[in-house]
Amino acid sequence: MTKKSKIGYSLLDHQRHGALKYVVASVIILAAASLRVWPLGALELRIPWVTFYPGVMATALYGGFSTGLAATTLTVLVVLFWSPTGMPFIDDPGDWLGMAVFSVNGTLISLMSGAMHRARDQATKAKEQAEGANQAKSVFLANMSHELRTPLNAILGFTNLMIKAPDTTNEQLKDLSIISNSGQNLLNLINNVLDISKIEAGHMVREDADVSLMQLLFEIESLMSVKVLEKGLRFKFAQSPDLPLDITVDATKLRQVLINLIANAVKYTEKGGISLKVKVIEQDPPHLMRLYFEVKDSGIGIKKEDQEIIFTSFEQIGDQPAMEAGTGLGLSICKQFVDLMDGSIGVTSEPGKGSVFYFEIPVNICTQLENVQTELSHERVTGLANGQKQYRILIVEDKFENRLLLTKLLEPLGFEVREAINGQEAVKQYEQWHPHLIWMDIRMPVMNGLEATRKIRGSKDGPDVKIVALTAHALEEERLEILEAGCDDFIRKPYRDTEIFDALTKHLGTHFLYANKKEGPATAAGKIGLNQEHLKMIPLDLIENLQEATELLHDKRCLKAAGMISDHNHELGECLRHMVENLEYKEILTALDNLTLKGSK
Ligand code: ADP
Repeated sequence: MTKKSKIGYSLLDHQRHGALKYVVASVIILAAASLRVWPLGALELRIPWVTFYPGVMATALYGGFSTGLAATTLTVLVVLFWSPTGMPFIDDPGDWLGMAVFSVNGTLISLMSGAMHRARDQATKAKEQAEGANQAKSVFLANMSHELRTPLNAILGFTNLMIKAPDTTNEQLKDLSIISNSGQNLLNLINNVLDISKIEAGHMVREDADVSLMQLLFEIESLMSVKVLEKGLRFKFAQSPDLPLDITVDATKLRQVLINLIANAVKYTEKGGISLKVKVIEQDPPHLMRLYFEVKDSGIGIKKEDQEIIFTSFEQIGDQPAMEAGTGLGLSICKQFVDLMDGSIGVTSEPGKGSVFYFEIPVNICTQLENVQTELSHERVTGLANGQKQYRILIVEDKFENRLLLTKLLEPLGFEVREAINGQEAVKQYEQWHPHLIWMDIRMPVMNGLEATRKIRGSKDGPDVKIVALTAHALEEERLEILEAGCDDFIRKPYRDTEIFDALTKHLGTHFLYANKKEGPATAAGKIGLNQEHLKMIPLDLIENLQEATELLHDKRCLKAAGMISDHNHELGECLRHMVENLEYKEILTALDNLTLKGSK
């Protein structure tokens, strides 16, 4: 419905309501008068106003000032002229006085009710205006986030491609890491602002799914331990042995809460360590349990009075280090997410000693998790496994740089790739070429991705092709719209390479070749330790290369260096490879520092 027709409708509605008010007022007053005849006829001339006061009050409350006044006037007329049983309601001078008092009171009641009605109308109008503004703000933020994410996709994607390129020098790698980190920070910021606006607009919904708790915790541990290590802090992860393997939970929100809390712990801790503890605190067999998560740090701590406000949006406390700029949104988002998961969050802290952030949430234990996700790999893809068919992949995207990015990612691996610059072209290409999978951008000129998906799904063989939407859209309704249009899946821009490869595995069953596939227990070689005698035999330039890559925490570069060292000493190379895979950067650096110290003596 258009805005104009909505206004038209409400005016009509108002008028109808206006006429109705007087009808209702008349009916109430006439009913009040009838009560005086029967069943209150025995009262005869005593207290004639007894039924009219409530009548006038009811009509004034219902219709406001004008209705109340009309009811008062109608009552006076009835009292003066209506005598169905031959007895007028009014008899002596006392009754006339009663009528005067009644008229004044009726008018006052009407005035008061009118004021109440006006106040209510104003409040409703203000609420509608606020809701409208909030809605507009959400739409604006969603659009703005779309506009920001699209170029970020290209920035992060191409940076990643350059980092991986074999001819990138160490100097360039340092600069590229800065671009990549800054891009990632910007993306986190956009996501936070968007999350909070979605929460405020009531768009945030819970999306429970079956997930592997172990994998989720492992991913968080490996992701966050790098950041902890980077700051020279210790990281400890403790989980109780009775933790369930698979649970039903909103994994995205749980992951974000944990990442936010650990990131804050890193941000506000200069020495000591950080720990993550997970345990079961309540069990209601066979399926329900309450999980407790705790992030503890030995950082600057938070004063008692500040502990109460930090979970509020935009609140930052005054005495945090100046370089630790933030938005004051992280903890507020954590609280809203935990609330949404029916849990509770809290903090205990002592200034100067550290903080403990904890939360607990109810989860369902699930027994039949289809382990699609756990099989997906986060290793570096180097090509297609042998015996794979020649997959035809269509990239539909209006932005040249984003088309190029996907082509550069997929073509070298052995996929046959074609491009379309809008939905209309996509439909044409689909009919001529019959790709196995289509990456579909949503917002495009000429024909958008939703329409193109519907057209393709409606054509012969259309139901068989896999269509994965790649979109910078952010609101939940859009996600639903995308799936309803017929897309099989949905990936948000900016995406990581692994998300693209995981989607190919999930939808086409593609098998990839991975660099550095783990063999045997990953920590075994790391435990052997780096043999100093062996290290001494390695050429200095290789050692320096490894040292630099380790200082940058650049896993791919480290693995490359380990590979080169492996050519000189296989055992040492293997050991390094396992240590990198287990994120034991600190240990590598210590060993290399020892080597250089000894060398310089
Ligand atoms: P910000 O983006 O500022 O970090 P948050 O909502 O995540 O926003 O945190 C709000 C405030 O709470 C921070 O500005 C900081 O002062 C304080 N804070 C959060 N976590 C910690 C912590 N682990 N140790 C000390 N202070 C913290």
